[in-house]
Amino acid sequence: MNGFGSLGLPAALRRDITGALASRFPQTVLFIGPDARTRPLAHTVAAALLCGEGGPCGSCISCRKVESGVHPDLIGIDEEGEIKIETARRVRSEALVLPNDGARKVFLIAHAERMNVPAQNALLKVLEEPPKYCFFLLCAEQPDRILETILSRCTRYQLPPDEEAPDESLLPLLVPYLRALAEGSELGLMRAAVGLEKLPRPQQRAWLSLLQTALRDAIFVADGLGAPLLPAVAGETRALAARLASRRLFALYELCGTLSARLELNAGAAALTCALTADAFGA
Ligand SMILES: [Zn+2]
Repeated sequence: MNGFGSLGLPAALRRDITGALASRFPQTVLFIGPDARTRPLAHTVAAALLCGEGGPCGSCISCRKVESGVHPDLIGIDEEGEIKIETARRVRSEALVLPNDGARKVFLIAHAERMNVPAQNALLKVLEEPPKYCFFLLCAEQPDRILETILSRCTRYQLPPDEEAPDESLLPLLVPYLRALAEGSELGLMRAAVGLEKLPRPQQRAWLSLLQTALRDAIFVADGLGAPLLPAVAGETRALAARLASRRLFALYELCGTLSARLELNAGAAALTCALTADAFGA
């Protein structure tokens, strides 16, 4: 379980959400934006709401249950087609049952705009007077398809419309690095990183951002949370997810951020190569 730092949220939005979590989090929330971004965010918020340590801390029993998808108080609704009234009724009756493990129960409804009108009306009944222990996290790409009566009860968090399209022209330089990471080969990391020394600085930055995107894919797509942003290297990111602990993936993700900042401060290319080899190997 990773915290909010790995979600690439705009700083203001991150502040709003963590601030709300630290005080009184609204019981009905709508996350608006692309599914690949709203779902990991809603999942992290759910983990935070259920975490015994005010996290998500990643290590308590609750966080571990959320991470492995077996938390009895996190109920996910993720349906392929239209969401019908039966599903909304199931949410309603489930909401009346006290939480199993702790003090809270969280419903995460992906593609909330796929609820047809009867389903929305059925859900509305429980949103009007939710039991104190219930939290409803709705995700939608097209909130205009949700009834005003529901919208008016939601605290809305809007994510930026879309990720900047990654510059895929640098993928041939990224693939050997991803493979070396998965294989745990320091020599491979060095060989792949040396290739960057000849690149102009903006391209080095673009490469780092591409690496960060690949790591994000490894962190989230492995958990089935949204579509990969770099499908061209899906094989490599799957291998990373399989071989590296999520804690390490997260550390590498953070390292990319640190290195980008260092590049801004005019760090030399050799320092970059060195960090991408030794720091990444030890991360
Ligand atoms: Zn926890």
